[in-house]
Amino acid sequence: MKTKSIQQILPPPAPHMVGDGFRVHNFFPGGYDMGLARMSPFFMLDYNSKVDFPGTDSPRGVGVHPHRGFETVTIAYHGKVAHHDSAGNSGVIGEGEVQWMTAASGILHKEYHEKEYAKKGGLFQMVQLWVNLPAKDKMSKPKYQGITKDQMGKYEIPNNGGVVEVIAGEFDGVKGPAYTFTPLHMYNVRIKKGATLTFNLPENFNTGILVVEGKAKVNNEEADTDHFVLFKNDGETITLEALEDSILLVLSGEPINEPIAPYGPFVMNTKQELIQAYEDFNTGKFGHLED
Ligand code: MN
Repeated sequence: MKTKSIQQILPPPAPHMVGDGFRVHNFFPGGYDMGLARMSPFFMLDYNSKVDFPGTDSPRGVGVHPHRGFETVTIAYHGKVAHHDSAGNSGVIGEGEVQWMTAASGILHKEYHEKEYAKKGGLFQMVQLWVNLPAKDKMSKPKYQGITKDQMGKYEIPNNGGVVEVIAGEFDGVKGPAYTFTPLHMYNVRIKKGATLTFNLPENFNTGILVVEGKAKVNNEEADTDHFVLFKNDGETITLEALEDSILLVLSGEPINEPIAPYGPFVMNTKQELIQAYEDFNTGKFGHLED
């Protein structure tokens, strides 16, 4: 098999605040001009690199807002995030856990630091991805999957080299628990210093690796903490060698080859559907959620 070669290793773009609780580097679609579909089905990657928040009695975060047409996937590395939505779902995720919210036809939600964590304060680090949905599923029913660490598929890296936690898709036959609408793989590779790992992902799948912790050689190129490795669609094989104890978030998915019309919290196929989304939101069709 051929190597999936590296297109570019991207340093974290300047961060901005989302609400008062998330200080994120937006790698795509805005941070780097790589095109709306370059990482399809992944439409957006916001990365909150490590921040030390002081303790507070009023948790930081983002108040009630809508989404339609895609899924929000939040992965916590440090700190805890609480979620509530208008479909009646809520949950708290802590270190290593994932919330996978399918907004689809429309939902209101709010995202805050969990109360006890907020009170104490401390290290905070997380990722939010927007995973696009194909036209046929954009208006399907909203859904929520809370994924704990023990639910994830686990592949032991040989020679006590660490573990691949499979969130979605599969790694060497080990499956992840998340239900996805289109084929995609999502793993946290927790690899120990000195360990190596070689794996294959389909050539046509858009693929990237975020270095959440540590430093690794990816196909012999050094990728440092908080950097995003963007791959070409020219092969299958990726080789990792950890230069430090590292956590690498691997994203790989089959592109959805459809027009993308994004605006604010909505990702649709056409401008008309965006106008409809605003109309439906303004006329209360996304339900109700207390602030
Ligand atoms: Mn949101």
